[in-house]
Amino acid sequence: YGDPSQKIDYVFKVVLIGDSAVGKSQILARFARNEFSLDSKATIGVEFQTRTLVIQNKSVKAQIWDTAGQERYRAVTSAYYRGAVGAMLVYDITKRQTFDHIPRWLEELRSHADKNIVIILIGNKCDLENQRAVPTEDAKEFAQREGLFFLETSALEATNVENAFSTVLTEIFNIVN
Ligand code: GDP
Ligand code: MG
Repeated sequence: YGDPSQKIDYVFKVVLIGDSAVGKSQILARFARNEFSLDSKATIGVEFQTRTLVIQNKSVKAQIWDTAGQERYRAVTSAYYRGAVGAMLVYDITKRQTFDHIPRWLEELRSHADKNIVIILIGNKCDLENQRAVPTEDAKEFAQREGLFFLETSALEATNVENAFSTVLTEIFNIVN
């Protein structure tokens, strides 16, 4: 996961948002360290993790911010969004309520973040297909209407996690180049 001595061409800040327990911290653990834990403790303190990847021969350091149990509406501070060029809006495909709250998160994001921020909607826990409560089509339509990228992921099975981050980071890369 990256040679620490390599020179960095870009640093992109990306924020994770969405209701509590949708899997934000595990998505980040999967991306940054290729780890997953079933009994993840609630995140304590705002923190970010980084991973450096190569996009079109440039090294891009992704600085991914995770909320600190501030998932209550309006509890995430503007400092969290400051300087963010990407956002991952996460819900749990087995919990309808977490999808129903997405418009609020989007509104919050749009009121705090840069207007050109690249956003991806993520339906996590797609390994739990037998408990699905949000049809893929509903989320796809919502994303299309709002101009968001969209993917279903599983942090547990590592499905589409890499793809979700590379979608956002490549789009940001293309905007700045
Ligand atoms: P957060 O509050 O959004 O950061 O959620 P966490 O990352 O702490 O995850 C909440 C719970 O969901 C934990 O028990 C995780 O192990 C579990 N979890 C996270 N991602 C997945 C996934 O893709 N599939 C399944 N089955 N469980 C997951
Ligand atoms: Mg967390």
